[in-house]
Amino acid sequence: MIETVKKYRKATRGRKVTVLGAARSGLAVARLLEKHGADVLISEMQPLNQVEEAARQLTFWGLDAEWEGHSDKALSRDWLVISPGVPIDSPVVRKAQANGMLILGELEVASWYLDIPMIAVTGSNGKTTTTTLITEMLCSSNVSAVACGNIGRPLAEIAFDATAYKIAVVEVSSFQMETAYTFHPHVALFLNLTPDHLDRHGNMEIYGELKARVFKHQNPDDWAIYNQSDDHVMMLMDDLEAKRLPFDVKPLPADGAYVEQGRIKLRFDCREYDLLATDEMRLRGQHNVLNALASSLASMATGANVEGIVSALKTFEGLTHRMESVGHVNGVEYINDSKATNVDAVWYALGGFNCPIILIAGGRDKDSDFTLLSDRIRDNVKNLILIGEAADKMAVDFEGLVPVHRAQSLQDAVEQAVSFSDIGDVVLFSPACSSFDMFRNYEDRGNKFKEIIEKMGSVAC
Ligand code: ADP
Repeated sequence: MIETVKKYRKATRGRKVTVLGAARSGLAVARLLEKHGADVLISEMQPLNQVEEAARQLTFWGLDAEWEGHSDKALSRDWLVISPGVPIDSPVVRKAQANGMLILGELEVASWYLDIPMIAVTGSNGKTTTTTLITEMLCSSNVSAVACGNIGRPLAEIAFDATAYKIAVVEVSSFQMETAYTFHPHVALFLNLTPDHLDRHGNMEIYGELKARVFKHQNPDDWAIYNQSDDHVMMLMDDLEAKRLPFDVKPLPADGAYVEQGRIKLRFDCREYDLLATDEMRLRGQHNVLNALASSLASMATGANVEGIVSALKTFEGLTHRMESVGHVNGVEYINDSKATNVDAVWYALGGFNCPIILIAGGRDKDSDFTLLSDRIRDNVKNLILIGEAADKMAVDFEGLVPVHRAQSLQDAVEQAVSFSDIGDVVLFSPACSSFDMFRNYEDRGNKFKEIIEKMGSVAC
């Protein structure tokens, strides 16, 4: 397969390529392929009047497109490039495959043409935070880095013209790895592996194997960075060609990053670095200590210096919708963690405070085992308020642990939280579920939460 793809890469010129979808990554990869001589057709499901901006862009670039469906012609060409949102076993992809088309992902194609090294970040949780933190560490060390991939800016946009950058820090999802046949990052990070997206991948074995593909084409000049305290990750770490850089919350005997007596330490290239105390970091929570360890190793391996790394750790305050402090009202702090769409993220969120927590959770269940949160809920939560489709299941799972309340809406949930709260408490919105039962997406859900708190007259932190 790899050889086949390499052969096709060299043969881009004149190749008839259909790019599925005129969203940002589709547009970027179409333009990139056209630059390298392919005969590109964009095929979009939406009618033209719903994607006018994309249509204008394509006309400007002189690219062909079809709207309102995928024609037989579009599915009978040489290559089909899909975005991460399109499952590899969807009918349209199967049809193209049956017609002999080679199925490729945007990430895979973009990586062929990228002429700067990549740091690839994967894992179930923490990808966006870590990708951003690595980029900050490198930029603070005067190494021009750009965050891209699943984080928002497609790799194909960078590959089109990377002259402004020395290194690309690429967030990689398991969806993207389904079509990553030759993807070869100089540094690859595997942060953690917990059940998620099993509705798409089927089981943990397939999901884990997809994530571990990030190491597959590395060689002994490359770096593999992985979480040594995660048993699921460690089960996939046997066949690495790259040099190993583990990270762990306890001291390590060889090169890697770890925490010792509350301080973040690195051992790299036979030298030891004592970076800072974990409580000097702006980010809070044990999960962010792990992200910091991984980020420090990745940036160190690609030219960052200790000053730049420490400066980023002291100043980076995290991203919106991830353990985001929305403000204080009457001595109670409100935290928006809407991006906590799975159980593991909530488990870490609940460990991040030294005060009673009023937890608002619920949404659309992804067939999760919520009982994994039982201990944390018993130990740290004062009141649990449930919303959305998963409320019934969660109420059964947590019965008898803490007082459990039902809310009809997010507004109702916040009002109940206010009534239960005392000075010094935290109201944490960390759903453990996806948002699609009540909201457009997790951003919409988090923004609604923030609007409610802001209306209550909070003072922004
Ligand atoms: P991703 O891009 O993988 O979804 P994010 O950085 O956007 O990760 O964070 C998603 C959620 O996971 C947030 O609730 C965040 O607080 C939590 N989180 C971040 N890093 C970790 C980690 N290393 N382990 C567990 N949860 C994490």
